[in-house]
Amino acid sequence: MATRRPSGTFPVPVPRTFGQRFRAFWHRPDDFLIDAGKAGELVIARIRLAVTLILLLIPLGNLATAPLAERETHLTGLLVTVFAVGIAVLVYLLVARDRRQAWLPLATSVLDVTLISTALLIFGFRVDPLQSVNSLVTFDTYFLAIAATCLRYDRRVALLAGMTAVLQYAIIVGIVAATLGPDSGDTTRYGQFGWSDQISRMINLSLATAIAVYIVRAMQRQRELSTSDSLTGVFNRRFFDDYFANELERASRYRTPFAVAMIDVDHFKQFNDTYGHAVGDRALRAVARALQRAIRRSDLVARYGGEEFIAVFRETGAAQAFERVEGIRQAIETEPLPVARASGPARVTVSAGVASWPEDGLTAEELIGRADARMFEAKNAGRNRVIGPPKS
Ligand code: GH3
Ligand code: MG
Ligand code: MG
Repeated sequence: MATRRPSGTFPVPVPRTFGQRFRAFWHRPDDFLIDAGKAGELVIARIRLAVTLILLLIPLGNLATAPLAERETHLTGLLVTVFAVGIAVLVYLLVARDRRQAWLPLATSVLDVTLISTALLIFGFRVDPLQSVNSLVTFDTYFLAIAATCLRYDRRVALLAGMTAVLQYAIIVGIVAATLGPDSGDTTRYGQFGWSDQISRMINLSLATAIAVYIVRAMQRQRELSTSDSLTGVFNRRFFDDYFANELERASRYRTPFAVAMIDVDHFKQFNDTYGHAVGDRALRAVARALQRAIRRSDLVARYGGEEFIAVFRETGAAQAFERVEGIRQAIETEPLPVARASGPARVTVSAGVASWPEDGLTAEELIGRADARMFEAKNAGRNRVIGPPKS
């Protein structure tokens, strides 16, 4: 299936060799998948905060009830948990900022795993080394952390966080094995140290990681299918409507301008009548390809209707957007279509209208209506042209 990649590599070849698969695996997901991952990241940030706040009750309760002599131990517990709450608050504030921070999913996933490893190590040093390696509840939270990486929509994050868990746990086991004397540790309470148990635990963590990676891939595929247009591979109308509503919200919150362009193929009915619908379909794909090539990573192209496309240019003013769409118009005009005529390959042209936020309107209806009206002006003025906001 053709995927959306504005870097000009459309359609993306299906990876076949090991090298291609490897590169495809490490390729950064597109910005729209990163947005999808952000919703999951926010859920995880809330859970992390709630869990650390609940955990805070344990040392607080212990401190209130323990005899004076044991207070120092519980004070350490309290400090550690306060530190964890502090981190959870900080991460929550970062995630809630609603900016795309490509490094954040990996950082928070590795952080979760590292918090669990730290807890295991603290048990080992303060309680009993055998609790580090034979703990049931704390060890199991590694699986929760690995499962939660799926919500980030990024296979690389799932793999790296899972591998970090295996590696950190192996280090903990190594430390415990090196320090454990023949008589040390309370085996009646925490059980024996056994290499085969420890290796099985690491294998289970690795398997959970592999499953998470496959789940993320399946989720990415489903999302690609449900958000893209089957003919052209660009985003579909349903995705565009959601995206545009979010974009408007974001723009009004951060006061960042953006522009939208409505792009319609000229005389397309006639083109279909001349060459047939199959060739018309190929022409639409070629137009979509030219649009994909022309836009930046953060911009978006969607099929709005039959032979109409809509483009959104983030953090772009009216004049700059006009120049960009004019470039796109020229690119489409010169793009040879996969159909030969006696006079050379067939070509299509487009007419476009550009509108910008906030000058041309604040709502989706106003902005798209204005872009549409300017596109019709371009048609009336003779087609194959772009009309933008009047220059001030
Ligand atoms: P104008 O320059 O005024 O836009 O003229 P037009 O012929 O492009 O506009 P009109 O709205 O009259 O016709 C649009 C045509 O687009 C009619 C329809 O057959 C064609 N079309 C819409 N969707 C598809 C499609 O998926 N594949 C093909 N081949 N044609 C399509
Ligand atoms: Mg039309
Ligand atoms: Mg048309």
